[in-house]
Amino acid sequence: MATLNETHDPALASWVASANQAGADFPIQNLPFGVFRRRGTQETWRGGVAIGDHILDPGAAQAAGVFDASAAAAATACGEASLNRLMAMGPAAWSALRLALSRALRQGAAQASALRSCLVPQADAEYTVPAHIGDYTDFYTSVHHATHIGQQFRPDNPLLPNYKWIPIGYHGRASSIIVSGQDFHRPHGQILPPGATAPVFGPSRKMDIELELAVYIGVGNARGHPIALADAEAHVFGLSLLNDWSARDIQSWEYQPLGPFLSKNFATTVSPWIVTLEALAPYRTAPPVRDAGDPPPLPYLDAPANRNAGAIDIQLQVLMQTARMRDQGQAAAPLAATSYRHAYWTLAQMVAHHSVNGCNLQPGDLLGTGTLSGPTLDQAGALIELTVGGQQPLTLPNGEQRTYLDDGDRMVLRGWCERPGAARIGFGDCAATLLPALMQV
Ligand code: MN
Repeated sequence: MATLNETHDPALASWVASANQAGADFPIQNLPFGVFRRRGTQETWRGGVAIGDHILDPGAAQAAGVFDASAAAAATACGEASLNRLMAMGPAAWSALRLALSRALRQGAAQASALRSCLVPQADAEYTVPAHIGDYTDFYTSVHHATHIGQQFRPDNPLLPNYKWIPIGYHGRASSIIVSGQDFHRPHGQILPPGATAPVFGPSRKMDIELELAVYIGVGNARGHPIALADAEAHVFGLSLLNDWSARDIQSWEYQPLGPFLSKNFATTVSPWIVTLEALAPYRTAPPVRDAGDPPPLPYLDAPANRNAGAIDIQLQVLMQTARMRDQGQAAAPLAATSYRHAYWTLAQMVAHHSVNGCNLQPGDLLGTGTLSGPTLDQAGALIELTVGGQQPLTLPNGEQRTYLDDGDRMVLRGWCERPGAARIGFGDCAATLLPALMQV
């Protein structure tokens, strides 16, 4: 587990002035990694580090001789078109690069004049998925989400008996993971109308979101060699926001017996910036205490460090902007807010469980946390919960009502961490607009 060091000092300020503004997502204490290029160009994609409203290009900075030997290899790897090689280097290399970046971006740094030409305004940039994602697994780590969904799909048996023993997951689809800002069309599929015995084919009428975090694997494990819980976090590069778009009507017809399939694999949106576990160190906290009747985790899912600080207090928010709100210049309206700290299973438990059978995780693999609903209904991370299965519409500030998504609705996820004695750091937006279904022949 990353410990606090000089890079977390809340008193640090940057010579990039926008990084010092109150409420900025990317102060010098954050330093998240993404892959970018100047918008509208054919420049090669390359890794970058967000600082204020700019992006530092570490590959260019390394070429300019800004970093010393301790960070040179990691800075060079960061300059590549995907972050996989940096991810594979491990925590010592990530940490050395973070320290070098922190020192070079501080107010008064000797490197400031050399680095100014290595900055690109975020307003001029476009992003791509920051790693080659070989495999994507989506978990189900919020017991509150699992219970609320279970009550709708199986009122007599909401929480299945394995939930409190196993971090439940399924294998998602990596090819349809897209980056924030890429819009997509409403999917078609098989839907069983209420009371019918045969399905119809058509566009989903119950399009939903899932508020999740994405966990990027850094160092992998050899096939046949599980990752111990105590070592699990050393295999995690960092976290971003993830929206697991879900077609609930397709899902309810297809999900038994093998779980979700076409209801989820048409689009999954990630935010462009990966916040490292080291940057998240000040916001660690204990996971929720298990209910008295809950089983203790099996030994491979239990360790003192996980019990004491296995959770992270990341504030999360869901916002919606309808097409009409956009036309009238109204900002996205908040629908729900929660924190990652409510999750039943931790980051380390996901990694340990995923590999316990010898499954090999690889650099760039993505683990979704599952919908991170909190204990109360206003903390729910999906419309199916917020509207109780579509029965209680939400009313937006302009009077529009929604159960599931209409064409043109733009959904925005936000995340940030703040705590007395630490800087506030943010994740940047994870946003996309649902476009109308394409005509089918
Ligand atoms: Mn999901």
